Order: sequence, then C-alpha cells, then structure tokens
Amino acid sequence: CAKQNGRASYCFFESHMTESSRDQTELLRDLRRAIERRQLELMYQPKVDARDGHITGVEALLRWRHPDRGWVPPVVFVPLAERAGLIGALGDWVIEEACRQMRRWLQDGLRLKVSINLSVHQLRQPDLAQRISQAMQRHQVPPGLLSCEITESAAMEDTGITRGLVDQLAAAGVPLSIDDFGTGYSSLGYLRRLPVSELKIDRSFVLDLATSGDACAIVDAVIRMAHALGLTVVAEGVETEAQRRLLNRLGCDQLQGYLYAKPMSARLIATWARDPAPTAVTPQPVEQLAG
Ligand code: C2E
Ligand code: MG
Ligand code: MG
Ligand code: MG
Repeated sequence: CAKQNGRASYCFFESHMTESSRDQTELLRDLRRAIERRQLELMYQPKVDARDGHITGVEALLRWRHPDRGWVPPVVFVPLAERAGLIGALGDWVIEEACRQMRRWLQDGLRLKVSINLSVHQLRQPDLAQRISQAMQRHQVPPGLLSCEITESAAMEDTGITRGLVDQLAAAGVPLSIDDFGTGYSSLGYLRRLPVSELKIDRSFVLDLATSGDACAIVDAVIRMAHALGLTVVAEGVETEAQRRLLNRLGCDQLQGYLYAKPMSARLIATWARDPAPTAVTPQPVEQLAG
C-alpha cells in the first residue's frame, strides 16, 4: 500500500491500527509513557544547496521507538497525540531537544540550521513563540538558526496560525517555512498575509516531475512565484538524478530527499555535515549535469 511512500514497513502496522480501538488505547498509554521515559528521538535529514550540494541545514523528524512494536512513524502517533491532547507535551519536547542538540553541535564547532515541524494544535498555544524563544535562550541558540515548518493547510486554517504569532516568531529570530506546499487548497492569500521565508514543494509534485508535464509546469510556476515574493524554495522527496537535474534547471534553491540522505541520528549527521561523501551520493558540480 504505502510502498511508493517508502513506508512499506509501516503498512502492516497502520492497517492493524485501524482495526482495533483497544490497540489505540494501548498505544496512547504507551505514548504517554514514552514522553515521560524519553523513548522519543529526533532524526535529522539534510537540506542541500541545489547548485553545489553543500548542506544548508537539517529538518528534525520525530521518531518513537516502541519497546515491543519497534519504530512507530510520526504519521501514526502525531495525529494520536493531537487527538489525545498530548501534542503540547510532545511539541515542547521537540523544541527543547532540537535546541539542546544545536547547542551540542555548536560546542563541537558545527553551526547547523535546524527546522522543526509544528502541529496546527501547537499554533493555537498563545505562548508558543515565548516557549520557543525561551528554549533558544536556555541553550544559547543564536537567532536565525532554528526555524519552524508548518503545513500549508495549517497556514490557511482560520483557527491556525495568526499574523501575531508569525510576527512574534520573527521577532524572536525564528523564520517560518510552509511545508507540503501545493497540497492545501492553495489559496495563496496567506502568502501575502504572513511573512514566511521558505516554501517546501510537496513530494507528490517532485515524484511526478520527470514524467508529468503538468507537475513540471506547476513546480516551475511555484518556483517563479516564490522567488518573486523573495522566498527560498526547497523541494522535498528528491530521490532521483532526473528529478535533481530538472529542479536544478527550474531554479529550485534547495533539495531534500533520499538521493542525498535519509533522516539520520544526531551523531551521524555531524559526520555527514563535515564530509557527506561516506554516507551519501556525492553531489556532482552543476557543470557536469549539463545534457
Ligand atoms: P514532513 O515534514 O513533510 O517530512 C518529510 C517526510 O518525508 C519525512 O517523513 C521524511 O522522512 C520523508 N522523506 C524525506 N525524503 C524523502 C524521500 O526522498 N522519499 C520519501 N519517500 N520520503 C522522504 P517522516 O519522518 O515519516 O515524517 C512524516 C511527517 O510527520 C512529516 O512530514 C511531518 O508532517 C510529521 N512530523 C515529523 N516530525 C514531527 C514533529 O516533530 N512534530 C510534528 N508536529 N510533526 C512531525
Ligand atoms: Mg516538514
Ligand atoms: Mg514536508
Ligand atoms: Mg510531507
């Protein structure tokens, strides 16, 4: 089922999940425990410069290592946490852990930009910007190093992100990025309303890029529009050389995907950032891509 998403191993788990509400209750109990017992982990996936392949930052992606079930993917437990009112605790843990990790990297001489994903429920916390900037202060994270990703649908929801929150984040030196761009209802009004700094083109467009003229036209238009608005464009889910070449031609600024690296532990990412060669496809210089 989810094979094309690279999540084949989760399929059994997910279908199993929908079958039994007892399982849901059990999983929820385990999730509460996991937050207390620190069974959660952040993995980091590089974003690279589309022209020369150098690392521009990483996205923090949440993982849960369940003692019996193994890795539970965020598409399963994040919605569960949202429904159960646990997303505040979970989100706070992510903010804290990302800042703590940035401080460790800085101490090792590695100045790495990190983006974290925010749930629409977190956006409703009136003190969210304050929590984030307090965590940054606690761990002495310089402004501009931490950024937040929110999905396009969250950005558009009435009850979702507000201008006030984005202004507060900007004042705290936290840039905002629109995730999964193209999958919301694509009303573009919020791009004028909110001072965002980055657009991430959803993987579904990247997936069809090399085979569909329509997908290509959309990505082309999105990149032009974003640039006209002064935004950086990141393509997510870049898996093939053909996709990379096309995105490069269309002027996409940054790329993220398995072609470069899967999400990695903090320790591995530090090695990768210093020398991407051993664990990933070595990016070729642009000149060699011609033709
Ligand atoms: P997202 O923010 O759009 O993250 C990108 C997802 O695509 C990640 O899945 C990543 O592992 C995957 N991915 C990256 N490159 C490729 C590729 O080349 N091919 C394929 N097939 N997949 C790729 P992941 O880690 O399972 O996360 C799924 C979603 O869960 C995220 O989508 C995000 O919406 C949510 N999520 C993850 N961590 C957090 C978190 O800390 N807080 C919240 N609220 N949501 C989170
Ligand atoms: Mg994201
Ligand atoms: Mg995304
Ligand atoms: Mg996505």
